[in-house]
Amino acid sequence: MSLRELVVLGTSSAVPTRHRNHNGYLLRWDGQGFLFDPGEGTQRQMLHAGVGAHDITWICVTHFHGDHCLGVPGVVQRIARDGVAHPVRAAYPASGETYWRRLRNASVFADTSVIAERPVSGPAASFDAGPVTLTARPLSHPVESYGYRVDEPDGRRMLPERLRERGVRGPLVGELQRTGTVTAPDGSTVRLEECSEIRRGQSAAFVMDTRLCDGVFALADGADLLVIESTFLSAEAEPAARYGHLTAAQAGRVAAECGVRRLLLTHVSERYGTHDEPRFLDEARAAFGGDVVLAHDLLRVPVPRRA
Ligand SMILES: [Zn+2]
Ligand SMILES: [Zn+2]
Repeated sequence: MSLRELVVLGTSSAVPTRHRNHNGYLLRWDGQGFLFDPGEGTQRQMLHAGVGAHDITWICVTHFHGDHCLGVPGVVQRIARDGVAHPVRAAYPASGETYWRRLRNASVFADTSVIAERPVSGPAASFDAGPVTLTARPLSHPVESYGYRVDEPDGRRMLPERLRERGVRGPLVGELQRTGTVTAPDGSTVRLEECSEIRRGQSAAFVMDTRLCDGVFALADGADLLVIESTFLSAEAEPAARYGHLTAAQAGRVAAECGVRRLLLTHVSERYGTHDEPRFLDEARAAFGGDVVLAHDLLRVPVPRRA
């Protein structure tokens, strides 16, 4: 069984609160583990969530504000301490190389050098990440910020009825999948397209910190799961725009326009208390009729099953 879920480690913008740790999100996808924006305290939140350094294959930093990266030193040193043997890639805005270097080497430790840097720049950067492609696109924030997206390639689903009709069975099925055509027992040529249909690949997008811009919509387009910052409510739309953040209503609008299936709101400003939380859901739902979740620390959010 494939495991595709987001493990929420922290959900607070700027500063941690009593109820919300600094950011941190581990997207688990068929054996890959994308750790997005490890803020302060991420290492301990991972312990609480039941995930470990061995689960991480990518560290993806959107930008170098502290709530998105102050957990990097702890995670990097834990990867070394736990003897993680597989390669771990690290993606971050290339313009923040100085900050990355400091965080990567924040204090003395026995480095195992499994971490390999993949700095991102330009209008889009894509990487082969095992069963998926990881793509980064620029956002709009006072410091350079990149959002990320994970895409599974389209596959094909075999149609047993059609195979039976054409007399394709046993090893011929594998041959048809490999080569695209086989000769059926009656001598006719059978093409793969006749006996299968396209199985759309799944995708997940991670968008923060940003005001509305083209990158937001490109990243969210058709995503099965959209993780997006909603730092403010609409009453604070003016400071949201000024500081380069989104409101819950804007997050809902993005999800609606992009045909998202599940929307996860997070990166909540410390100005709001738990009594304000229903308003985040209400604002997003006013724009978006799909599934909306407000993130809480240690929540697990499955990538929705295929439609
Ligand atoms: Zn932030
Ligand atoms: Zn920021």
